[in-house]
Amino acid sequence: MKLRFWGATNSVTGSATFLELEGGTILIDSGLYQGSVSTEKENLIPYPQEAAKLHAVLITHAHLDHTGYLPRLVKLGFRGKIHCTPATARLMRIILLDSAKLSEGDFYSEEDVHHTMNLVESHEFGEHFQLLNASVTFQSAGHILGAASLVLKADNKKIVFSGDLGRDTDPILLPHPPAPEADVLILESTYGGKIRHGDLQKELHTFLMSVSRGSKVGIIASFAVARGQLLLELIHEFFERHPEEKVRVVMDSPMMKAANEVYTQYSSLTQRPEDLRISLEEIDSIEFSREWTSLKKKSGPLVILSSSGMVSGGRILRHLYNWHEDESALLFLPGYQGEGTYGRALSEGQRQLVFEGRAFTWSGEILTSEAFSSHADQNELVSWAGDYNRDAKVFLVHGEKEGKLALKKKLQANGILSVEIPEKGNVYEI
Ligand SMILES: [Zn+2]
Repeated sequence: MKLRFWGATNSVTGSATFLELEGGTILIDSGLYQGSVSTEKENLIPYPQEAAKLHAVLITHAHLDHTGYLPRLVKLGFRGKIHCTPATARLMRIILLDSAKLSEGDFYSEEDVHHTMNLVESHEFGEHFQLLNASVTFQSAGHILGAASLVLKADNKKIVFSGDLGRDTDPILLPHPPAPEADVLILESTYGGKIRHGDLQKELHTFLMSVSRGSKVGIIASFAVARGQLLLELIHEFFERHPEEKVRVVMDSPMMKAANEVYTQYSSLTQRPEDLRISLEEIDSIEFSREWTSLKKKSGPLVILSSSGMVSGGRILRHLYNWHEDESALLFLPGYQGEGTYGRALSEGQRQLVFEGRAFTWSGEILTSEAFSSHADQNELVSWAGDYNRDAKVFLVHGEKEGKLALKKKLQANGILSVEIPEKGNVYEI
């Protein structure tokens, strides 16, 4: 059995790892590289395995950096099955269709996405299924709805792929179990060097209070999938607890609306299904473009939840443009803001933006929060790996170099001695 590392080796995007089994090769995740122009160029480097010869693909979760290459793979001749959980399949469809639209048919088209979805075979958490000589199970990983770690048994060995791991204290998802005892553990390390600080409920509370008491407009930049649903549930909770605060809340993101339906359908995977359903179903959603101007005419406190989460496009720019002269307006940027995005620039003090060719300056306030992350931090990663896995061979992926080095040190201090940081293309016999 061989592991061939490929994507997400030098960064946190482009996830793709090949597992060569007796009789064929399985690909674990098939994500897009995202970020700077040079990072995205990596999407053009072909996989080391011919698409048509791959036996199957296993998908840990729906995020684009884990699924976004799939339609390309199908376009290049892949005809095997794509295995994932049912919620992942639904969310993946939304994310891939959006990606096809953004790529304008260059990289792949909506039709390629439909062909891709036809190859999907979904499995519930805990269900065992066979791929070549391997038995596979999806284990809940937190992170986002449907996200899974993979447990694979072949040749008397147990190989576990963490996928992206969620926090131990996710406010809406059910808690996820630690890694099982494994021979080989492929561990994500997004926050391998960080211990998280901040309290997301508290930071959202500060934002909502400021909007309500100051009777102003608050705009929240949110990702459509996962972050959006988390924010909507927390906003709903806030107003349940503070009925005296009267704020109109609207959502402006068709993709978020589509993801809300999936979260509602699979609300049994969350801690308070009924509350989540209510918060997602009762939210005021913008349907027509004329509402953009009518929003502006109404007085009273208003919160607009729109995407993208890093202000790198999407409808949020329109709202920032509409309120850019209002010094009392408040922009909330919850979560990590990637390099090269408006979100990063705004959080670092810049105020210049461009919307549909019109340059403008944001005059309002900006509130940032680092607490909104759907990733386990260093302590949570180490405890997930489990001290019973001291004899396992651990490979760190999906992280920046410093984060991986810090996590390696921490794991070794904890007794897990065999920790590798593979490079793109490295092959290991396991
Ligand atoms: Zn993810």
